[in-house]
Amino acid sequence: MPVLPIAKLGNPVLRKMAAPVNPRDIQTYDMQQLIDNLIETMLDEPGIGLAAPQVSRSVQIVVMGCEGDEDGFPQTILINPKIVFYGPQQVENWEGCLSVDGLRGKVTRPSVVRVQALNRHGKSMDFEATGLYAVCIQHEMDHLIGKVFLDRMTDMSTLTQLSEFDKYWKHDPVPAI
Ligand code: ZN
Repeated sequence: MPVLPIAKLGNPVLRKMAAPVNPRDIQTYDMQQLIDNLIETMLDEPGIGLAAPQVSRSVQIVVMGCEGDEDGFPQTILINPKIVFYGPQQVENWEGCLSVDGLRGKVTRPSVVRVQALNRHGKSMDFEATGLYAVCIQHEMDHLIGKVFLDRMTDMSTLTQLSEFDKYWKHDPVPAI
């Protein structure tokens, strides 16, 4: 399984609306290979999430996963995902992105989301996510509508280069999404 090159900020593919996947195409070799390559690329970087547009495929597929006791979540593959409910509470988290090298910034998002999507076998999923899982889902789904976390920042003064982040803000954990 090859590791795919990551599209970086400025690449027009990151600003496009991704096309939905025809459910009949999910089981094709091409689509299954794309999913495997997305996971491989995410693990290689390493990141905790990756959306298909980030490897220059403008289709509605995201993969994510994060090991860890406290804020870990299972490996998840979402095809044509939709958020059908946002919790009323907002939380602020540091975010980074494999398409935005060396920067971190604080983003405020709903703390709970309910998601409907298809899995890699074409089966329907319907689940609720909280914590880092909810943040990651919203971050990755933004990539499907041409948005990056910088667009969601309300206070640009928190934008931080990685070296300074490590120096001043490291106590706030923030994996690259
Ligand atoms: Zn990202």
